[in-house]
Amino acid sequence: MPDRLLILGGTSDARALAELLTLTNDRALSVVSSLAGRVRSPRLPPGEVRVGGFGGIAGLVAYLRDEGITRVVDATHPFAAGMTANAAAACARTGVPLTILRRPGWTAQPGDRWHRVASLAEAADILPRLGARVFLTTGRQDLAAFADLDLWFLVRSVDPPDPPVPRRMRSILARGPFTVDGETALLREHAVDVLVTKDSGGMDTAAKLTAARPLGVPVVMIDRPALPPGVPVVETPEQAAANLRESGSGLR
Ligand code: NAP
Repeated sequence: MPDRLLILGGTSDARALAELLTLTNDRALSVVSSLAGRVRSPRLPPGEVRVGGFGGIAGLVAYLRDEGITRVVDATHPFAAGMTANAAAACARTGVPLTILRRPGWTAQPGDRWHRVASLAEAADILPRLGARVFLTTGRQDLAAFADLDLWFLVRSVDPPDPPVPRRMRSILARGPFTVDGETALLREHAVDVLVTKDSGGMDTAAKLTAARPLGVPVVMIDRPALPPGVPVVETPEQAAANLRESGSGLR
C-alpha cells in the first residue's frame, strides 16, 4: 500500500504543495487535497480533490481510516482554527502524523501605524477611535462584528459578504494577488482612513500594508489564533515537501 497524504487546503500554500508533490512524486505517495467548499469557484489544486466538511473530529477520524490516510498536512488559513483543532485531535486519536504548514505572520516596518488586537470584536471596539472610512479585508464571513458600527465600510471579499453587514457599506469582489499601485489607488479613491486585516501573512495580500504606510493610514491587525500544542510547524510548501521526503513517505 502506498503512503496516502491528506492536504487540508483553502490557501495558495496548500495549492503550491500539491503542485510541488505532483512534479516530484513517483506515485509511491498518493495525495488528496481537501477544500471546505466555501468559495463558489475555488482555484483547484492539481490531482485528487475532495470538497466539504468531514463532520467534526469523529467524521475526520472515520475519513482517515476509510481512506487509508497515513499523513496529514494542515495547510489551512491561519484563521481556520476549527479545522486545525479538529485535525490535531483526529490525528492524535488515529496516530496519523500531522504537520502544520503555516506561513509566517506579517512584521511591522518603520512608518507603519499598526494596532494589534486579539479578535474581530476588539477590532470593532477600537475602530471608531481610529477613523470613519474603513477598508475591511477580513473576509465575507466576518462582518457581523462590525455590523452595528456607524462607520462607512469598503468591504473586499472573494464572494459576496454574508449578513449581517454594516449599514453603510460598499462591497467589492476580488481575489489576490494585489499590487501596491492598485491598493494605493483604492485607498485614495475611497478616502480610506483606517484598514482592518487579519494577520494572514504571505505576499498575495501584503500590498495593502505597503500602500497604507506612506498614506499614514492606521492598520488594525488581528492576531492569529494559537496553534495546537506539540504539532510540528513548517513555513513553506518546500519545507513541507522536504519533511515528507525525509520521513520516508515514498516521495523522492
Ligand atoms: P474553520 O472555521 O476552521 O472550519 C470550520 C469547518 O469547516 C471545519 O470544522 C470543517 O468542517 C470545515 N473545513 C474547514 N476547512 C476545511 C478543509 N480544508 N477541508 C474540509 N473541511 C474543512 O474554517 P474557516 O475559517 O471557515 O475556513 C474555511 C476554509 O477557508 C478553510 O479551508 C480555510 O483554509 C479557508 N480560508 C479561511 C480564511 C479565514 O479567514 N478563516 C481565509 C482564507 C481561506 P467539519 O467539522 O464538518 O469537518
